[in-house]
Amino acid sequence: MSVYDVIILGGGAAGLFSAYNLNSSVNALVIEGNSKPGIKIQISGGGRCNFTNLSVNHDDFYSLNQHFSKSSLSQFSNHDFIEIVKKHDISFYEKKLGQLFCEKNSKEIIKMLVDKIGAHKINIHLDESVIDLGYEESFIVKTNKRSYKAKNIVVALGGLSFPKLGTSDIGYHIARKFNHKIVQTEPSLVPFVYDDFSKLAGVSTDVEISVNQKKIQDDFLFTHKGCSGPAVLKISLYWNHGDEVSVNFFPLLDFLSHLMKFKKNNPNKNLIKYLKTLLPDRLVEFLDLPDKSFQELSHKEISSITNKISDYRFTPTGTEGYKKAEVTRGGVSTKNINSKTMESKLQNGLYFIGEVVDVTGLLGGYNFQWAWSSAFVASKSIKEKLNG
Ligand SMILES: Cc1cc2nc3c(=O)[nH]c(=O)nc-3n(C[C@H](O)[C@H](O)[C@H](O)COP(=O)(O)OP(=O)(O)OC[C@H]3O[C@@H](n4cnc5c(N)ncnc54)[C@H](O)[C@@H]3O)c2cc1C
Repeated sequence: MSVYDVIILGGGAAGLFSAYNLNSSVNALVIEGNSKPGIKIQISGGGRCNFTNLSVNHDDFYSLNQHFSKSSLSQFSNHDFIEIVKKHDISFYEKKLGQLFCEKNSKEIIKMLVDKIGAHKINIHLDESVIDLGYEESFIVKTNKRSYKAKNIVVALGGLSFPKLGTSDIGYHIARKFNHKIVQTEPSLVPFVYDDFSKLAGVSTDVEISVNQKKIQDDFLFTHKGCSGPAVLKISLYWNHGDEVSVNFFPLLDFLSHLMKFKKNNPNKNLIKYLKTLLPDRLVEFLDLPDKSFQELSHKEISSITNKISDYRFTPTGTEGYKKAEVTRGGVSTKNINSKTMESKLQNGLYFIGEVVDVTGLLGGYNFQWAWSSAFVASKSIKEKLNG
């Protein structure tokens, strides 16, 4: 059996970009379980792939080690990926908050990656599932079809989110087998479940939402099961079961001062009618506020109304789970990985990149950027090792 220089397990965003960054003198192979490479790239961003963000730094990522992503992000930044996209004449635009999307179709990103991998004469074996990884002088990869040997292995097997796209827990299994710790995995960038909101399904509004000292301002959407929208998906990254969430439905103003001033100038106006000029009607009705004119409202009542609007508290009963989660939080512990190379500290030649690692980005192109950056540094390290 010939021995590959490197076998990349998983042909998603990180695996493909790792192969992209090798060259034709490296004897490499990519193994992907799906019938197409980069399926999550294809469906992401409504088919337009939010491939990075104009502003990226380590604070945009959640990990037990908040500093771990720094090295990869500085060795290969968002600007480096943007340059590659430009070089390939892929047109893109900023949607909002620095989020960059393909103008036409995310398949352009996949084609860019696959073409270069083809030019390096690296094969991508599709429809082939990794079952196990062992080590006896070299790595032995077992798939549902055959076995392979390799000097280096890149584990780019992703997380557990969106199981219908062929996800598996094999990346964590391999990590455990080589004595790596796994930080507990949780569905993240995911809608919350909270039955009381079902009557508001379809209502959306701009809010500031907070949990565990993290604050996010963005759109909030009530759903039949609870709530979603960018504000909720983003804050879910910081939420743990049992945590109370606070929502400010009118984040632009000091609402108490605003209502007191309004009362002074408009004593005869009805509170509910006025609030309906500021907030969606169904939300105002849901908040169950006194149907009184401003002059009938005491300062205490106005304070309590303010609390309901600018500090509405609820405790989600859970999330909609991996089925609806964009990413998996947690994963292979960064304690066991060298942040400069993404190589295991416990097993030479074994690399972990992308979502399988305990580094999770916010909504907005950050998870792809982590896939690109971590893939780049792993391939750089492998090339240096093979040349040295
Ligand atoms: C609906 C959706 C939309 C998203 N939109 C965005 C977005 O716009 N911007 C953004 O930054 N992030 C987005 N994400 C997150 C982003 O897709 C992931 O974080 C990113 O793809 C992670 O890259 P990865 O290569 O680590 O994992 P993946 O892209 O998941 O790749 C892992 C690969 O391993 C393969 N695999 C798994 N098990 C096996 C096995 N046993 N054998 C062989 N192959 C296997 C999988 O088929 C997959 O191709 C989105 C995610 C979802 C689900």
